[in-house]
Amino acid sequence: MDCIFCKIVNGELPSKKVYEDEHVVAFHDISPIAPVHVLTIPKKHIASAMELGEGDAELLAQLHHAIREVARATGVAESGFRIISNIGSDGQQTVPHLHFHVIGGRQLEWKA
Ligand code: 5GP
Ligand code: ZN
Repeated sequence: MDCIFCKIVNGELPSKKVYEDEHVVAFHDISPIAPVHVLTIPKKHIASAMELGEGDAELLAQLHHAIREVARATGVAESGFRIISNIGSDGQQTVPHLHFHVIGGRQLEWKA
């Protein structure tokens, strides 16, 4: 499959990993918008949050566990951070492999 995040998962493309387990990998965004900007993704290809099903409940829990580990590893667990998952065209999703942006390390603004 021609998906850049699948290529990061299987090692075809390099990434700076922050966290990895059997089902999830997290790595620094190539174009960070804040001092901390990490992408947390399932290793399994899922196009977006719209493609999640009932069978993915455990995977979602694993993703959120990974996000907490990323927050601790990058030092934003106490200061706070934001989780964003863009979906589709209006959501400005550019990579069609489910990912959660973990953004922090500065005071964030709010409202899209
Ligand atoms: P989206 O716009 O789909 O919500 O987010 C995609 C994110 O992936 C963007 O923030 C973009 O900077 C990041 N990105 C795109 N290609 C690569 C890559 O090859 N490596 C890494 N680490 N991040 C990437
Ligand atoms: Zn993929």
